[in-house]
Amino acid sequence: MDYDVIIIGSGPAGLAAATLIAGKGGKVLLLDEQLRPGGQIYRNVENTSMNLRKILGSDYACGEALVKKMRQQSVDYIPGAVVWQVTEGREVGYSVNGKSSLVRAPWVIIATGATERPFPIPGWTLPGVMMAGAAQTLLKSSGLAADGAVFAGCGPLLYLVASQYLRAGVKIAALLDTGAKPNYLAALPYFSGALKRWDMLAKGMKWISDIRRSETRVIKRVSELRIEGKEEATGVSYRTYSGAAGRIETKNIFLHHGVVPNVNLAMAANVEHLWSDEQICWYPRVDSWGCTNVDGLLIAGDGAGISGGLAAEAAGRLAVLWCLKELGKIDPTECDSLARAQISALKHETRIRPFLDNWFKPPEPFRVPDGDTIVCRCEELTVKDISDVIDIGVAGPNQLKSFSRAGMGPCQGRYCGLTVQELIAKKTGRKMSDIGYYRLRPPIKPISLGEFAEMDAGPPANES
Ligand SMILES: Cc1cc2nc3c(=O)[nH]c(=O)nc-3n(C[C@H](O)[C@H](O)[C@H](O)COP(=O)(O)OP(=O)(O)OC[C@H]3O[C@@H](n4cnc5c(N)ncnc54)[C@H](O)[C@@H]3O)c2cc1C
Repeated sequence: MDYDVIIIGSGPAGLAAATLIAGKGGKVLLLDEQLRPGGQIYRNVENTSMNLRKILGSDYACGEALVKKMRQQSVDYIPGAVVWQVTEGREVGYSVNGKSSLVRAPWVIIATGATERPFPIPGWTLPGVMMAGAAQTLLKSSGLAADGAVFAGCGPLLYLVASQYLRAGVKIAALLDTGAKPNYLAALPYFSGALKRWDMLAKGMKWISDIRRSETRVIKRVSELRIEGKEEATGVSYRTYSGAAGRIETKNIFLHHGVVPNVNLAMAANVEHLWSDEQICWYPRVDSWGCTNVDGLLIAGDGAGISGGLAAEAAGRLAVLWCLKELGKIDPTECDSLARAQISALKHETRIRPFLDNWFKPPEPFRVPDGDTIVCRCEELTVKDISDVIDIGVAGPNQLKSFSRAGMGPCQGRYCGLTVQELIAKKTGRKMSDIGYYRLRPPIKPISLGEFAEMDAGPPANES
């Protein structure tokens, strides 16, 4: 099959994009490693019970309409398709049930969303500790919620998941809030802009008030965290900026310090990336349609910068409008006219971002660990291991990777990349933007040599 557009990711960005292009007569392939469409925000939305929907809230349930619309169009949707490569020639490599294939199209849209920011504190690799988003994944996909857990960190998703847990009827032992005073001052100038999205502010306030009205202990201004246990987590100890200290016994700790763009595929395709001091992460340089420096390769949704689910939908549609115009399926006037509503939706949705980015900026002690804290989980490298290599005088993360193997494991740096970069910055006094990131190369997800050898190479490369 010759496709006009290949879309990677069936979250709001990918779903909106696929639906629009198919509706205009375009041939579209939609790939996602998950078994069901919806992405992070609407995960498993086609399959959840009414009871679970009540727990997850109305924002979650509205994803059903988006998925339904995609299902009604003639979209070639392949679930369980792990994309391990996108090349500059728009060749997409993906694996389904241990069998890999290559497919090409004149246009490829990466809509792979966000991942949770690493939270490297002592004990974070112990069984029983996971990211709050992963805890939410369990709830969305299996209706599972651990009783007596501790939530720690800050950011909208932390409070959302905690409030969903409470609605699920489980008890939360404590919420340890790492929000710091300087953040509140830094966010203040953006408050009037945020007020234009009073509906979002009200939603956040409701989550916080639900948590406060429950039996959950809320400890604010936490400055230090340590997860205790030998074989598994048995508790978490904390200290606050005012010097108060304590320990909470629990087997489940859910950490969260915001989400960052999932940059692996785009970086491996040589898309130019920029550093954001506001969101403390890398993001791809895209124009207002989502076009990158690589011909025919666009990025939409949280993968292009954290903006939320509704913004991702608008960005997905904008990316597709560009492709439709270039494919000659709509004329430039129609393209501009259809784009107007999406641009204004995007503007409306992102209005609150500067306020949120400043208010919830993860404080440095939780981004730059010390001592024997593990940094690279795949290779089990501690801060000391990494620091010893930095002391040799490495030029940056790539040389550090060669010397230490940090970032070479199955996660391909997702869990350690930003931390390694911060450690280099702290030790050398260099700017984060100057240090750069790991040089990522395909395959960005592990696949076996046998799978490579048996790969269905598809049609010759000159077709697009
Ligand atoms: C764990 C987690 C939970 C979140 N929960 C919420 C929430 O409840 N409410 C909320 O408002 N926001 C939530 N967010 C933020 C949220 O992701 C977004 O704002 C929104 O979903 C972004 O939409 P998107 O289409 O850009 O990406 P996503 O919704 O993240 O969709 C990206 C899709 O790409 C797929 N993908 C990624 N890499 C590959 C690959 N290599 N091969 C194949 N497929 C791939 C993923 O499986 C996913 O389905 C969450 C974020 C995370 C990380």
